[in-house]
Amino acid sequence: MNTKLIEFIQQLYGTNEFIPLHAPRFSGNEKKYVAETVDSTFVSSVGAFVTRFENDIAAFTGATKAVATVNGTAALHTALYMSGVKRGDLVITQSLTFVATCNALYHMGAEPVFVDVSKTSLGLCPIALEEFLERNASFNCDGVCVCTNTKQVIRAVMPMHTFGHPVELDEILRVCKKWNLVLIEDAAESLGSYYKGIHTGTIGNFGALSFNGNKVITTGGGGMVLCKSANSGERTKHITTTAKVPHPYEFFHDEPGFNYRMPNLNAALGCAQVESLENFLASKRDIAMQYKAFFNGTEFQFVDEPPYGRSNFWLNAVICPNIDSREELIKTTNESGVMTRPIWQLMHTLPMYSDSKRGDLTYSEFISQRLVNIPSSPVGK
Ligand SMILES: *Cc1c(COP(=O)(O)O)cnc(C)c1O
Repeated sequence: MNTKLIEFIQQLYGTNEFIPLHAPRFSGNEKKYVAETVDSTFVSSVGAFVTRFENDIAAFTGATKAVATVNGTAALHTALYMSGVKRGDLVITQSLTFVATCNALYHMGAEPVFVDVSKTSLGLCPIALEEFLERNASFNCDGVCVCTNTKQVIRAVMPMHTFGHPVELDEILRVCKKWNLVLIEDAAESLGSYYKGIHTGTIGNFGALSFNGNKVITTGGGGMVLCKSANSGERTKHITTTAKVPHPYEFFHDEPGFNYRMPNLNAALGCAQVESLENFLASKRDIAMQYKAFFNGTEFQFVDEPPYGRSNFWLNAVICPNIDSREELIKTTNESGVMTRPIWQLMHTLPMYSDSKRGDLTYSEFISQRLVNIPSSPVGK
């Protein structure tokens, strides 16, 4: 199996050299646009590429307003701030995620609560969410959802679209409405992924994208807050740019803001990358379908898109039959220069989140022991 897989991936990427998990691709106007910022000296907080990039992403995703930030973690932090998450609040998320999801809410002074992921999406499971709330939550006298034991406010639910596979948003939204919770989508991995035809990150009150070097498109480092309303979009822009009230020369700031604005230099790269986005997505889908065919009929299960959605197949993944076969697969592929990785360690096993409240995490544990990510870079133009 492992030798066949290595050969298959080498043939897929047309090389016997090192094959990374996800490499960025610059085949369009990247150099041209970046050079324009250098030539004009507008590399920093002023320049036209930021607004253009925000408009491009808003148009692509259908978000009412998109606000560019320095990275995806900053976008998540902003989304939580804008959602009214307060010090001491609880935010329900998944243990099976990249650490940035939890770090963003930790730095809001909130605590993560972990519920299990769904077999359909590998993202937050609506049934596990509802069960957790029924067991542990109630409404206080103001009608606010609280943890029955500690009386802490449960403010929001933040699912993450794992590897670009959309979570079951209708069901999650129904539970959020019933319990009066804000929905924030960690869509860092899911640019180009759709839930029933609607772009991920635009269904919750806020969504966050990442343009880190390993994501579907990159700005070097960068992120984007997707906002549901024009009002919240305006305030998001204000809060991420030091909350400065526009004036030709006066420095008046009307609330404690963040300095999370994306520099024009990075946005220039982003504008060029957006032009290639549809091609990248087509190539990634093609690669995913080839993997799917390769693993079909083996004891390795390819992680496919859920039936209700369209995935960007950001990182392809297989579920190995057991821990030993996972170790063997990771070892032999990496020794042959084909990069593969286990999934992240579960958040509740990290020292800073080990005391967090949590529901049953059986399926998260199962996946964390068996899942391997395989090379997923787009090829071609
Ligand atoms: C990439 C990623 C982020 C944001 O990462 P940055 O490096 O800060 O851009 C957040 N959440 C998840 C799940 C991610 O994969």
